Amino acid sequence: MSDGGTATANDKIKPNIAVFVKNLRKCFGPLEVLKGVSLKAHEGDVISILGSSGSGKSTMLRCLNMLEVPDSGEITIAGETFGLKKRQQRTEPADRRQVDRLRQHIGMVFQSFNLWSHLTILENVIEAPVHVQKRNRAECIAEAEALLEKVGIADKRHFYPAHLSGGQQQRAAIARALAQRPKVMLFDEPTSALDPELVGEVLKVMRSLAEEGRTMLVVTHEMAFARDVSSKVMFLHNGLVEEEGRPEDMFRQPNSARFKQFLSNVK
Ligand code: ADP
Ligand code: MG
Repeated sequence: MSDGGTATANDKIKPNIAVFVKNLRKCFGPLEVLKGVSLKAHEGDVISILGSSGSGKSTMLRCLNMLEVPDSGEITIAGETFGLKKRQQRTEPADRRQVDRLRQHIGMVFQSFNLWSHLTILENVIEAPVHVQKRNRAECIAEAEALLEKVGIADKRHFYPAHLSGGQQQRAAIARALAQRPKVMLFDEPTSALDPELVGEVLKVMRSLAEEGRTMLVVTHEMAFARDVSSKVMFLHNGLVEEEGRPEDMFRQPNSARFKQFLSNVK
Protein backbone atom coordinates (compact mmCIF):
# COMPACT_ATOMS: atom_id res chain seq x y z
CA MET A 1 0.00 0.00 0.00
CA SER A 2 1.37 3.38 -0.95
CA ASP A 3 0.59 5.82 1.81
CA GLY A 4 4.00 7.37 1.35
CA GLY A 5 7.00 7.10 3.64
CA THR A 6 8.16 4.24 5.75
CA ALA A 7 6.32 2.63 8.64
CA THR A 8 6.85 4.20 12.03
CA ALA A 9 5.83 3.07 15.51
CA ASN A 10 2.97 5.50 15.22
CA ASP A 11 1.51 3.60 12.25
CA LYS A 12 0.82 0.60 14.44
CA ILE A 13 -1.96 2.34 16.31
CA LYS A 14 -3.47 3.91 13.21
CA PRO A 15 -6.36 2.04 11.63
CA ASN A 16 -5.65 0.51 8.25
CA ILE A 17 -6.41 2.35 5.08
CA ALA A 18 -9.61 0.95 3.56
CA VAL A 19 -9.80 3.12 0.45
CA PHE A 20 -6.96 4.98 -1.20
CA VAL A 21 -7.57 6.95 -4.37
CA LYS A 22 -4.89 9.01 -6.05
CA ASN A 23 -5.23 11.39 -8.93
CA LEU A 24 -8.33 9.84 -10.45
CA ARG A 25 -9.18 11.13 -13.91
CA LYS A 26 -12.17 10.37 -16.10
CA CYS A 27 -13.44 11.92 -19.33
CA PHE A 28 -16.65 11.25 -21.20
CA GLY A 29 -15.67 12.22 -24.74
CA PRO A 30 -14.52 15.83 -24.58
CA LEU A 31 -15.98 16.33 -21.09
CA GLU A 32 -13.41 15.99 -18.33
CA VAL A 33 -15.50 14.94 -15.34
CA LEU A 34 -12.79 13.97 -12.83
CA LYS A 35 -9.63 16.04 -13.07
CA GLY A 36 -7.40 14.36 -10.51
CA VAL A 37 -9.32 13.42 -7.39
CA SER A 38 -7.60 11.87 -4.39
CA LEU A 39 -9.15 10.40 -1.28
CA LYS A 40 -8.07 8.39 1.73
CA ALA A 41 -10.44 6.54 4.05
CA HIS A 42 -9.19 4.65 7.08
CA GLU A 43 -11.19 1.71 8.38
CA GLY A 44 -14.20 3.07 10.23
CA ASP A 45 -14.16 6.43 8.46
CA VAL A 46 -17.42 7.88 7.20
CA ILE A 47 -16.69 10.33 4.41
CA SER A 48 -19.50 12.53 3.17
CA ILE A 49 -19.02 13.67 -0.41
CA LEU A 50 -20.79 16.90 -1.20
CA GLY A 51 -21.08 18.94 -4.35
CA SER A 52 -23.51 20.44 -6.83
CA SER A 53 -25.15 18.37 -9.48
CA GLY A 54 -22.68 17.49 -12.22
CA SER A 55 -19.57 17.95 -10.06
CA GLY A 56 -18.53 14.30 -10.56
CA LYS A 57 -19.67 12.66 -7.31
CA SER A 58 -21.43 9.66 -8.88
CA THR A 59 -18.68 9.18 -11.43
CA MET A 60 -16.14 9.03 -8.63
CA LEU A 61 -18.09 6.39 -6.69
CA ARG A 62 -18.74 4.43 -9.88
CA CYS A 63 -15.02 4.42 -10.67
CA LEU A 64 -14.29 2.88 -7.28
CA ASN A 65 -15.97 -0.36 -8.29
CA MET A 66 -15.26 -0.04 -12.00
CA LEU A 67 -18.83 0.63 -13.07
CA GLU A 68 -16.90 3.35 -14.89
CA VAL A 69 -13.31 2.66 -15.82
CA PRO A 70 -11.10 5.63 -14.92
CA ASP A 71 -8.73 6.98 -17.58
CA SER A 72 -5.92 7.09 -15.04
CA GLY A 73 -5.19 7.19 -11.36
CA GLU A 74 -4.74 4.71 -8.58
CA ILE A 75 -7.44 2.92 -6.62
CA THR A 76 -6.56 0.67 -3.70
CA ILE A 77 -9.30 -1.05 -1.74
CA ALA A 78 -8.65 -3.33 1.22
CA GLY A 79 -4.97 -3.41 0.34
CA GLU A 80 -5.37 -4.40 -3.30
CA THR A 81 -4.66 -1.99 -6.14
CA PHE A 82 -6.76 -2.09 -9.31
CA GLY A 83 -4.71 -2.72 -12.40
CA LEU A 84 -5.55 -0.72 -15.52
CA LYS A 85 -4.26 -1.19 -19.05
CA LYS A 86 -4.48 0.92 -22.19
CA ARG A 87 -5.82 -0.69 -25.32
CA GLN A 88 -6.40 1.28 -28.52
CA GLN A 89 -6.74 4.62 -26.68
CA ARG A 90 -9.15 3.08 -24.18
CA THR A 91 -8.41 2.15 -20.60
CA GLU A 92 -9.72 -1.11 -19.26
CA PRO A 93 -9.24 -3.27 -16.19
CA ALA A 94 -6.06 -5.32 -16.50
CA ASP A 95 -7.73 -8.33 -14.90
CA ARG A 96 -11.48 -9.00 -14.89
CA ARG A 97 -11.18 -11.47 -12.01
CA GLN A 98 -9.60 -8.78 -9.91
CA VAL A 99 -12.61 -6.56 -10.61
CA ASP A 100 -14.97 -9.36 -9.52
CA ARG A 101 -12.95 -9.85 -6.36
CA LEU A 102 -12.80 -6.18 -5.52
CA ARG A 103 -16.52 -5.71 -6.13
CA GLN A 104 -17.15 -8.24 -3.39
CA HIS A 105 -15.38 -5.91 -0.99
CA ILE A 106 -17.68 -3.04 -1.95
CA GLY A 107 -21.35 -2.73 -1.08
CA MET A 108 -23.11 -0.15 -3.21
CA VAL A 109 -26.42 1.55 -2.48
CA PHE A 110 -27.95 3.69 -5.22
CA GLN A 111 -30.54 6.44 -5.21
CA SER A 112 -32.98 4.17 -7.05
CA PHE A 113 -32.76 1.07 -4.78
CA ASN A 114 -32.09 -1.29 -7.73
CA LEU A 115 -33.70 -4.35 -6.13
CA TRP A 116 -34.63 -7.28 -8.35
CA SER A 117 -38.40 -6.86 -8.81
CA HIS A 118 -39.04 -10.56 -9.48
CA LEU A 119 -37.39 -11.68 -6.24
CA THR A 120 -38.68 -11.34 -2.70
CA ILE A 121 -36.76 -9.18 -0.25
CA LEU A 122 -35.08 -12.22 1.32
CA GLU A 123 -34.19 -13.62 -2.12
CA ASN A 124 -32.71 -10.24 -3.06
CA VAL A 125 -30.54 -10.25 0.04
CA ILE A 126 -29.19 -13.80 -0.41
CA GLU A 127 -28.69 -13.53 -4.19
CA ALA A 128 -25.04 -12.44 -4.24
CA PRO A 129 -23.87 -14.41 -1.18
CA VAL A 130 -25.36 -17.65 -2.55
CA HIS A 131 -24.79 -17.27 -6.30
CA VAL A 132 -21.69 -15.09 -6.53
CA GLN A 133 -19.88 -15.85 -3.30
CA LYS A 134 -21.08 -19.50 -3.32
CA ARG A 135 -21.68 -19.53 0.40
CA ASN A 136 -23.87 -22.03 2.20
CA ARG A 137 -27.55 -21.20 1.51
CA ALA A 138 -28.89 -21.90 5.01
CA GLU A 139 -26.14 -19.78 6.54
CA CYS A 140 -26.88 -16.96 4.08
CA ILE A 141 -30.59 -17.08 4.93
CA ALA A 142 -29.85 -16.87 8.65
CA GLU A 143 -27.50 -13.95 8.08
CA ALA A 144 -29.99 -12.22 5.75
CA GLU A 145 -32.75 -12.52 8.33
CA ALA A 146 -30.51 -10.95 10.96
CA LEU A 147 -29.66 -8.11 8.57
CA LEU A 148 -33.33 -7.51 7.74
CA GLU A 149 -34.03 -7.43 11.46
CA LYS A 150 -31.27 -4.88 11.90
CA VAL A 151 -32.68 -2.56 9.22
CA GLY A 152 -36.17 -3.06 10.68
CA ILE A 153 -37.96 -4.96 7.91
CA ALA A 154 -37.74 -8.61 8.98
CA ASP A 155 -41.53 -8.88 8.68
CA LYS A 156 -41.31 -7.96 4.96
CA ARG A 157 -38.86 -10.69 3.98
CA HIS A 158 -41.31 -12.64 1.84
CA PHE A 159 -42.75 -9.54 0.12
CA TYR A 160 -41.79 -8.35 -3.35
CA PRO A 161 -40.11 -4.93 -3.59
CA ALA A 162 -43.16 -3.32 -5.21
CA HIS A 163 -45.13 -3.96 -2.03
CA LEU A 164 -42.73 -1.97 0.13
CA SER A 165 -42.47 1.78 0.63
CA GLY A 166 -39.43 3.56 -0.80
CA GLY A 167 -37.85 3.77 2.64
CA GLN A 168 -38.34 0.03 3.21
CA GLN A 169 -36.93 -0.76 -0.25
CA GLN A 170 -33.87 1.33 0.45
CA ARG A 171 -33.34 -0.39 3.79
CA ALA A 172 -33.64 -3.73 1.96
CA ALA A 173 -31.02 -2.50 -0.52
CA ILE A 174 -28.72 -1.66 2.40
CA ALA A 175 -29.25 -5.15 3.88
CA ARG A 176 -28.50 -6.65 0.47
CA ALA A 177 -25.25 -4.70 0.19
CA LEU A 178 -24.24 -5.73 3.74
CA ALA A 179 -24.96 -9.39 3.01
CA GLN A 180 -21.84 -9.57 0.86
CA ARG A 181 -19.81 -8.74 3.98
CA PRO A 182 -18.19 -5.79 2.23
CA LYS A 183 -15.19 -3.94 3.58
CA VAL A 184 -16.52 -0.61 2.33
CA MET A 185 -20.03 0.70 1.75
CA LEU A 186 -20.67 3.28 -0.98
CA PHE A 187 -23.90 5.27 -0.91
CA ASP A 188 -24.93 7.47 -3.84
CA GLU A 189 -27.64 9.86 -2.66
CA PRO A 190 -29.48 7.07 -0.85
CA THR A 191 -32.31 9.31 0.33
CA SER A 192 -32.73 11.61 -2.67
CA ALA A 193 -35.54 9.59 -4.28
CA LEU A 194 -37.56 9.27 -1.07
CA ASP A 195 -40.59 11.17 0.11
CA PRO A 196 -39.43 13.49 2.90
CA GLU A 197 -41.19 11.52 5.63
CA LEU A 198 -39.21 8.37 4.69
CA VAL A 199 -35.73 9.93 4.70
CA GLY A 200 -35.28 9.65 8.48
CA GLU A 201 -35.70 5.87 8.67
CA VAL A 202 -32.94 5.32 6.10
CA LEU A 203 -30.58 7.85 7.71
CA LYS A 204 -31.15 6.15 11.05
CA VAL A 205 -29.94 2.84 9.62
CA MET A 206 -26.92 4.55 8.05
CA ARG A 207 -26.13 6.25 11.32
CA SER A 208 -26.18 2.89 13.13
CA LEU A 209 -23.79 1.44 10.55
CA ALA A 210 -21.45 4.37 11.13
CA GLU A 211 -21.62 3.77 14.89
CA GLU A 212 -20.70 0.13 14.30
CA GLY A 213 -17.48 1.35 12.74
CA ARG A 214 -18.22 0.56 9.12
CA THR A 215 -16.21 2.32 6.46
CA MET A 216 -18.62 4.38 4.39
CA LEU A 217 -18.38 6.84 1.51
CA VAL A 218 -21.63 8.71 1.25
CA VAL A 219 -22.70 11.10 -1.49
CA THR A 220 -25.46 13.08 0.14
CA HIS A 221 -27.36 16.33 0.31
CA GLU A 222 -28.30 15.67 3.93
CA MET A 223 -26.17 18.27 5.66
CA ALA A 224 -27.13 17.16 9.18
CA PHE A 225 -25.85 13.66 8.37
CA ALA A 226 -22.64 15.06 6.87
CA ARG A 227 -22.09 17.31 9.88
CA ASP A 228 -23.03 14.91 12.68
CA VAL A 229 -22.10 11.45 11.40
CA SER A 230 -19.08 11.80 9.14
CA SER A 231 -15.47 11.76 10.21
CA LYS A 232 -14.50 13.66 7.08
CA VAL A 233 -16.25 15.83 4.51
CA MET A 234 -15.16 16.31 0.94
CA PHE A 235 -16.58 19.00 -1.34
CA LEU A 236 -16.23 18.37 -5.05
CA HIS A 237 -16.47 21.13 -7.60
CA ASN A 238 -16.01 20.66 -11.34
CA GLY A 239 -14.20 17.36 -10.94
CA LEU A 240 -11.76 18.55 -8.28
CA VAL A 241 -11.68 18.42 -4.49
CA GLU A 242 -12.35 22.04 -3.65
CA GLU A 243 -12.25 21.61 0.12
CA GLU A 244 -12.01 18.73 2.58
CA GLY A 245 -11.62 18.33 6.28
CA ARG A 246 -13.32 17.53 9.53
CA PRO A 247 -17.03 18.36 9.51
CA GLU A 248 -16.76 20.57 12.59
CA ASP A 249 -14.17 22.73 10.80
CA MET A 250 -15.80 22.77 7.39
CA PHE A 251 -19.27 23.65 8.58
CA ARG A 252 -18.14 26.19 11.14
CA GLN A 253 -15.54 27.90 9.05
CA PRO A 254 -15.52 26.96 5.38
CA ASN A 255 -12.52 28.28 3.48
CA SER A 256 -13.68 28.03 -0.07
CA ALA A 257 -16.11 30.64 -1.36
CA ARG A 258 -17.75 27.97 -3.51
CA PHE A 259 -18.35 25.72 -0.52
CA LYS A 260 -19.82 28.68 1.39
CA GLN A 261 -22.11 29.35 -1.55
CA PHE A 262 -23.08 25.66 -1.73
CA LEU A 263 -23.94 25.62 1.98
CA SER A 264 -26.06 28.72 1.72
CA ASN A 265 -28.00 27.14 -1.14
CA VAL A 266 -28.75 23.85 0.61
CA LYS A 267 -29.60 25.23 4.04
P1 ADP B 1 -22.92 14.25 -9.86
O1 ADP B 1 -23.15 12.86 -9.35
O2 ADP B 1 -21.99 15.05 -9.03
O3 ADP B 1 -24.20 14.97 -10.10
P2 ADP B 1 -21.96 12.90 -12.23
O4 ADP B 1 -20.74 12.20 -11.82
O5 ADP B 1 -23.20 12.08 -12.36
O6 ADP B 1 -22.21 14.15 -11.27
O7 ADP B 1 -21.74 13.59 -13.63
C1 ADP B 1 -20.69 14.51 -13.87
C2 ADP B 1 -20.77 14.94 -15.33
O8 ADP B 1 -20.50 13.82 -16.16
C3 ADP B 1 -22.12 15.47 -15.76
O9 ADP B 1 -21.91 16.54 -16.64
C4 ADP B 1 -22.75 14.30 -16.47
O10 ADP B 1 -23.64 14.72 -17.44
C5 ADP B 1 -21.53 13.63 -17.09
N1 ADP B 1 -21.71 12.18 -17.23
C6 ADP B 1 -21.91 11.29 -16.24
N2 ADP B 1 -21.98 10.03 -16.71
C7 ADP B 1 -21.84 10.13 -18.05
C8 ADP B 1 -21.81 9.18 -19.13
N3 ADP B 1 -21.94 7.87 -18.90
N4 ADP B 1 -21.63 9.65 -20.38
C9 ADP B 1 -21.46 10.98 -20.62
N5 ADP B 1 -21.47 11.92 -19.66
C10 ADP B 1 -21.65 11.50 -18.39
MG1 MG C 1 -24.88 11.87 -8.82
